[in-house]
Amino acid sequence: MDEKLSFFKDGLRLDGRRPDELRPIKIEVGVLERADGSCYIEMGDNKVIAAVYGPREVHPRHLQEVTRAIVRYRYNMASFSVEERKRPGPDRRSYEVSKVSREALASVILTSYFPRSVVDIFVEVLQADAGTRTAGINAASVALADAGIPMKGLISSCAAGKVDGEIVLDPMKAEDNFGEADVPIAMTPGGEITLLQMDGRLSRDEFRRALELAKVGCQQIYEVQRRVLVDRYSSIAAPESCEA
Ligand code: ADP
Repeated sequence: MDEKLSFFKDGLRLDGRRPDELRPIKIEVGVLERADGSCYIEMGDNKVIAAVYGPREVHPRHLQEVTRAIVRYRYNMASFSVEERKRPGPDRRSYEVSKVSREALASVILTSYFPRSVVDIFVEVLQADAGTRTAGINAASVALADAGIPMKGLISSCAAGKVDGEIVLDPMKAEDNFGEADVPIAMTPGGEITLLQMDGRLSRDEFRRALELAKVGCQQIYEVQRRVLVDRYSSIAAPESCEA
């Protein structure tokens, strides 16, 4: 068998997906009692939890901004989240993921409403299978909404990649490991890109196709995020409106 074709069988991927198909997504809102907002997400075999605290007073105080809130984002992979135990604690990769994820979300948070305060976002990866930064951003976005943080809109995130010469949506671990490129993005419902990274090599045309595919993926994720939030808050609102 031709080695190049090993990631596809009859046009489908190793897990049976079409090239333009996302992995199954499950989102739960408000899973942590002691956080102001929280969300648990599964995207394929990724399992990620996000907790949001704030707006609250900034510590240490010299970090305060007089005209706006600051946003902090900590991405952490549990040592048991990957096949070979990961050394606990921050590393270069987690600093990078935290930085780009913070920037992906901060641009839609209305920080000027809360001078001198901080919005803290904690993302814990419980199980990793490629795409944890995008899963973390999706969960964090829903957790921010759950915390009632004013935002211009939700942020949705997913990656497209190149595997065996084909552009595919939402690469899983095997595809990410042996693939030729990975392009994670995040965007607003209006199509404004707030995260764009690329690992590997793509031609201009391939890059354009990967970006378009990832945008379609983000739109699909947005629909799930929106539906989950509407379901949660309409069910909370319902009993009160019945009593009124
Ligand atoms: P992302 O998870 O956002 O796709 P990467 O492309 O850096 O980020 O990582 C791809 C995948 O590689 C991760 O989802 C995880 O499954 C695996 N991985 C990352 N870091 C480690 C690590 N330190 N040890 C083992 N596996 C890791």
